[in-house]
Amino acid sequence: FLGGKTAIVTGSNSGIGLGVARQLARAGADIVLNSFTDRPEDHQLAQNLAEEHGVTVRYVKADMSKGDECRALIQQAGRCDILVNNAGIQHVAPIPDFPIEKWDSIIAINLTSAFHTTAAALPMMRAAGWGRVINIASAHGLTASAFKSAYVAAKHGIVGFTKVTALETAREQITCNAICPGYVLTPLVEAQIPDSMKEYNMTRDEVIRNVMLERQPSKEFATVEQMGDTAVFLCSDAAAQITGTTISVDGGWTAL
Ligand code: NAD
Repeated sequence: FLGGKTAIVTGSNSGIGLGVARQLARAGADIVLNSFTDRPEDHQLAQNLAEEHGVTVRYVKADMSKGDECRALIQQAGRCDILVNNAGIQHVAPIPDFPIEKWDSIIAINLTSAFHTTAAALPMMRAAGWGRVINIASAHGLTASAFKSAYVAAKHGIVGFTKVTALETAREQITCNAICPGYVLTPLVEAQIPDSMKEYNMTRDEVIRNVMLERQPSKEFATVEQMGDTAVFLCSDAAAQITGTTISVDGGWTAL
């Protein structure tokens, strides 16, 4: 049902972004994949996705830590019916030791990039008379964990930005919502395991069971397909009056 629509997914050469891109392509949308690299495998990924689903898929390199590149990504796509702000990084450290440059890049990539892409995309959505902005926030957009100050601040920030975007588009056929995943086993989560092992002095299995899934009552990781299908739902007519809110896909984390 998304035939003829173009979806831009930031940070989509792996993990949740790629999972969302895949489910949107399955639903018929043309896709713009993005990350900050420009490797042959990035373009190969686009070609594979296109062949898999019979849609047009392009890979556009743009660094989401840079405002001008965020805006250029949207301009280069030329059309943006669905914008998924997904690019994100993590760093784990106590506040006094938190590297300043890590704080700055987490705020830039996880929060400020969405301001730039949304600013560039809304005029295109208005011209087309329809649009969907989907921000990939986190359970950490609604709750907090120690040692994740920049990430939690950025994710709470994007939940706020989601509400403002919804209010500014409320009278148009445009919605803006945030998906709040719990733990999904992706490269980003994989990369946190060694830090958490040090921080908590635990083995890999103990970190997964006692730290990560300790807060996830289902005791199961959520999947990238589930994030993608939630995004597809938000693009459907059933979701036309859902705007300015969060959808948790977190195995009960935020119910605790
Ligand atoms: P991931 O590391 O697999 O993917 C992150 C993506 O962002 C990659 O494609 C990476 O290339 C891209 N990226 C990083 N820096 C970038 C930059 N400067 N410019 C452009 N692209 C950049 O991680 P993921 O788990 O798939 O995370 C995706 C999003 O989901 C993030 O916003 C993350 O905070 C959020 N999230 C993940 C989980 C989880 O458990 N995995 C939970 C909640 C929220």
